[in-house]
Amino acid sequence: MRFRPELDPLRPYVPPKSWRMSAEGTDENNYAKLTSNELAFGPLPEAQEALSEVLPRTNRYPDSHVSRLRQVIAEANPGAETRNILVGNGSSEVLMNVLQLLPGGGEIIYPWPSFSLYPMICAVLGMTARPVPLTEQQEIPSEALLAAVTAETRAVILCNPNNPSGTYLPLAEVRAFAAALPRDVLLILDEAYVEFIDDPAFEDSHTLALETDNVVVARTFSKAHGLAGLRCGYGISTEKIADYAERVRFPVSVNLAAQVAATASMLARDKVRERARFVIQERKRLQEAFRNANLEYIPSQGNFVMVRFGAEVFEKSGILVREGAALGYPGWSRVTVGNSEENERVILAVGSTGEAIEQGA
Ligand SMILES: *Cc1c(COP(=O)(O)O)cnc(C)c1O
Repeated sequence: MRFRPELDPLRPYVPPKSWRMSAEGTDENNYAKLTSNELAFGPLPEAQEALSEVLPRTNRYPDSHVSRLRQVIAEANPGAETRNILVGNGSSEVLMNVLQLLPGGGEIIYPWPSFSLYPMICAVLGMTARPVPLTEQQEIPSEALLAAVTAETRAVILCNPNNPSGTYLPLAEVRAFAAALPRDVLLILDEAYVEFIDDPAFEDSHTLALETDNVVVARTFSKAHGLAGLRCGYGISTEKIADYAERVRFPVSVNLAAQVAATASMLARDKVRERARFVIQERKRLQEAFRNANLEYIPSQGNFVMVRFGAEVFEKSGILVREGAALGYPGWSRVTVGNSEENERVILAVGSTGEAIEQGA
């Protein structure tokens, strides 16, 4: 049989070490798993309780419109109504669905390095990926992105804060960027890490998507809410985009467990915010340790930090991190902020090499 040629360059996702270890049956339980930007804590008790309540009812289909969850998400975002909320099997599906609304064959622009899903979706949808390098300081290159827009451009994807660099564009600059973009180009703001932004001015970033007919904000329950395993994400947009996105969404893509757990977690969002504040504090502590060890690192607004320190050295200290080589930063590691004990391990690991270098000099 013949295959679509645009799929040829796609390689299977190289999974983080911890997945490979568990697939091989290696006991990875003694390692701190800081590979995938997950939350170090399980779902909130409220979400766990909601999950156990629905288990006996999993013979039934869930609400295919996901009405209750969409309503609760709208209530958490002032100015939004249920009709402004998109949902999906992870925010990955939300991204896929909104890109599916665009006329085929055009170009998609995004900063690079960024999330590996973007080139993958472009290839699957038969669109041309136009990655634009981050600035020298690894910042989001707004001017270069605007300069890259052509008559063929269908969308710009801004991962903000950006994974894996952790850098971000302040809200005023996002607004200026949206205003400068042609109205027929869709702006997708991937805010998977928005809860970890340490800047009060970023509050209510979703209002831009409500006010502007070519902007979508995509968010997820996989990171700050600690529900990565259940696969649930959402988007905020005008009613028109949300209506169209619902037309292409796979029927019942958000399962019953995901719907009730995400609803309970969103209703308990003060506790989610508390956990995010802990992550922000611990991120500061990690960055301080990197600074003290004279390691190069990129100041981050996510729940992870890129640091110039080999993944294999971390592994010797019982820590699994994402290898920088897989993310466009050879010789670096992306370290997810873990719980106190895990972060302590990271601090010890970089501290001891720092001393070793000084002794060697
Ligand atoms: C983790 C992550 C997501 C979330 O993906 P889900 O499908 O919701 O689990 C989205 N975008 C970026 C950049 C991410 O790092």
